[in-house]
Amino acid sequence: MKPVLIKNFSAPELESWVQGLGERPFRARQIYRNLYVRNVSSWGECTDLSRSFRNQLEYGSILDALAIARVDEAGDGTRKYLFRLNDGNHIESVLIPDPPRYTICISSQAGCALGCRFCLTGGLGFKRNLDTAEIVDQVCQVQRDAGPHRITNLVFMGMGEPLANYDAVLRAIRIITDPNGLAFSHRRVTLSTVGIIPNLRRLGAESPVNLAISLHAPDDTLRRELMPVSSAYPLPELMHACREYPLPPRKRITFEYILLDGVNDDKRQARELVRLLHGVRAKVNLIPFNAHAGSEFRTPSEEKVLAFQEVLQKAQLTAIIRKSRGDDISAACGQLAAIANNAPCTASLRDD
Ligand code: SF4
Repeated sequence: MKPVLIKNFSAPELESWVQGLGERPFRARQIYRNLYVRNVSSWGECTDLSRSFRNQLEYGSILDALAIARVDEAGDGTRKYLFRLNDGNHIESVLIPDPPRYTICISSQAGCALGCRFCLTGGLGFKRNLDTAEIVDQVCQVQRDAGPHRITNLVFMGMGEPLANYDAVLRAIRIITDPNGLAFSHRRVTLSTVGIIPNLRRLGAESPVNLAISLHAPDDTLRRELMPVSSAYPLPELMHACREYPLPPRKRITFEYILLDGVNDDKRQARELVRLLHGVRAKVNLIPFNAHAGSEFRTPSEEKVLAFQEVLQKAQLTAIIRKSRGDDISAACGQLAAIANNAPCTASLRDD
C-alpha cells in the first residue's frame, strides 16, 4: 500500500484512517498533537504511541512532506528556505523576523500559471499545485528551524496563487487555525490573491482569514498589461466582489500595490487609485519594486514613492510603505524563484 501524506488529513479524516488500522480513535488525537503541538520530525519521538504502532506509521505514512534543501539568511535576519518536494520540484518559504513578530510567507503552488510581468515566480511557469500537507509542512519545518522564536503571523504570499489551489489551501488554513492544530488565530493569517473572483466569494463564505488583493494598477488596461489574469477577472468585477466581501467588524481589505518606476507610480494614478477604492474598507501597502537581474522594471525614487503615498493619505486612505526585507538573498517581494542555488513575498505585511 502506498504511504499516505499524513498532514493531508483533517482531524476527523485522521480518526477514520487510524480506525482503519484497527486503532482506537484517541490514537488519532495523539498523532495530531504530535504533528502540530509537539511538531515532531520522526515517529520515534512519539513515545506516547506503542512501538508496534509507530512501526506501522513508519511504513504506512509520510510524516514530512518536504525536505529543506537550502537555507539563506539575509543581513536583516530574513531567512529563505528552499524546500524539495517528493517529486523533485522545489518551492520556497520566507521567515521575516521583526520581534516580537515572526512572519512566515508560504507557497501554495510550485511555480505559477498567471505570469504577472513583475514577478520572478510567474516567469518560471506552472509546475503543480501543492498538497495540503506540503503547505502545512512549510510552517512545521520553519518553526522547527526558528527554535524558541514562535512564528506569530502567516501570509499566503509565496510562490503561486492560493485561490487557484483553493481546496488544498482551505484545508491547510483549517489545520493552521485549528486550536488543536497549529493554533494560529484567523486574525494572524492573511491570504493574498490576484482575485480569482469565484473562489474569492467562496473564501469569504468559508474562512475569516485576512484578505489581501494584489492590485498593482488603478485601471483595467494597465492591470491587464501587468497581470494577464485581469482579462479573465476585470477590475470593475473584482472591486464589486471586494465591496460585497463579508468582512468582520473593524477589518479592512489590504490592497498591495507594487510601485514600478514610470509605469504605475504617477500622482495621477494615485488619484485614480483613490477613486477605485472609494466605498471599500481598504488600506494600501505600497511596495517599491525590488529590481532583480533581467527585470524590465526599475525601482522608483523615494521622492516618487512619498508623493504617491501623500495623495492617498490626503484622501484619508491608510497607505503604508513596506520596507523591503531579505532582498540580498532574493527573498523580497516578487523574487521567489525556487532555483536550486538561489524563492513573491511582501515583507513585514501587517494585519493590524
Ligand atoms: S505575483 Fe503571484 S499570481 Fe502573479 S505570477 Fe507571481 S506568484 Fe503568480
